[in-house]
Amino acid sequence: MKRYRELSPSLRTIMTPGPVEVDPRVLRAMSLPILGQFDPEFTDIMNDTMDMIRALFQTDNRWAYPIDGTSRSGIEAVLTSLIEPGDRVLVPIYGRFGHLLVEIAQRCGAQVSTLEQEWGQVFARGQVAEAILRERPDLVAIVHGETSTGCLQPLEEIGKACRASDALLVVDAVATVGGTRIAADEWMLDAVIGGTQKCLSIPAGMAPITYNERAEAKLLRRKRIERGLRDPKQEADSGGRPIQSNYFDLSQLQDYWSPARLNHHTEATSMLYALREGLRFVLEEGLEPRFARHLEHEAALVAGLRAMGLTLFGDPDCKMPMVTCVNIPDQVDGESVRSMLLHEFGIEIASSFGSLKGRIWRIGTMGFSCNKKNVLHLLGALDAALLRHGVSIPTGAAVQAALDVYDSKVDAQG
Ligand SMILES: *Cc1c(COP(=O)(O)O)cnc(C)c1O
Repeated sequence: MKRYRELSPSLRTIMTPGPVEVDPRVLRAMSLPILGQFDPEFTDIMNDTMDMIRALFQTDNRWAYPIDGTSRSGIEAVLTSLIEPGDRVLVPIYGRFGHLLVEIAQRCGAQVSTLEQEWGQVFARGQVAEAILRERPDLVAIVHGETSTGCLQPLEEIGKACRASDALLVVDAVATVGGTRIAADEWMLDAVIGGTQKCLSIPAGMAPITYNERAEAKLLRRKRIERGLRDPKQEADSGGRPIQSNYFDLSQLQDYWSPARLNHHTEATSMLYALREGLRFVLEEGLEPRFARHLEHEAALVAGLRAMGLTLFGDPDCKMPMVTCVNIPDQVDGESVRSMLLHEFGIEIASSFGSLKGRIWRIGTMGFSCNKKNVLHLLGALDAALLRHGVSIPTGAAVQAALDVYDSKVDAQG
């Protein structure tokens, strides 16, 4: 048999929109001893994690727990549990992940209508609210931060519009959670899905979610239908269908995360350790200081890129702090530059999808990867790589401009 060498991944500087570098303390937590899933020590860890997920999403919701699987599993669990075949679902799309929401909603048997915005923009005030009045959806699903375009959609107005027309609002906050403010209760978000491997800086493999009583009411109704117990008040509405998935059935999952601990799957022990410790570090830093840190390093990065003569993709008024999209200069092979960054400097940045493929690079400043060393290292390396690719740039200007941003921060505080 072939002999396989011992695993020894290179130490990379990861400046993509995920997965990003992980705090060594989180990695260490993953190597701690296994506990049985009904051991009181373990159920305490489950309860702590639920509390911390509530704090993360700024909610008092009873239900806040992780789905085992990558972020997509969280999206699938929420949509599969909340969409009944035939439900009207509205998806405002402004990038790649909007299309993912459409695909999943269609697989749930929804009648999906969409509203599309050009990539690089978000929806203007009133646009989504107007579509809600027109389409009268049962559920609206939207992305908070579109990692594919680097744009951030404000949600408050959409939350109000959904509440006013009695539609459920489901938000994919996978890329933004832990990097910028998400106030589930204040913004009237009925269900929110987060991701671990982005601004939370935990390995991929879990998706923290939360949902409120409006969303729960729908789950419980579907459960009654499954058991043949119809609610007399809803007798007229006999078209309901049980939840089609077992693994992603939130009505079963919430029983597992409740004090009843009704067995569902086996909780992913080591991944839960990682989530618990990762969230503990996020809350220990403090949400507001953490958001400010993301803005600070974004400002330094952007100043550096501009000083190099590069331009950014997308409307600056809706830019995500944790993703910066850069137009690849004419005549430059973007993949060749990325390859040089990785192989000569050990830095990874991301390419892009669809119509933006080959046109922009995407640079992530997320969580543990969002720091001064990484920003300065990347700017210096990109400066060298572009010179090597024959682009004439003011050599050294990028790092100086970023240092100026960092210095002015110190001055402002001092
Ligand atoms: C990364 C990402 C996802 C998908 O997450 P996986 O963990 O890869 O399943 C979904 N939505 C958005 C906005 C993302 O950035």
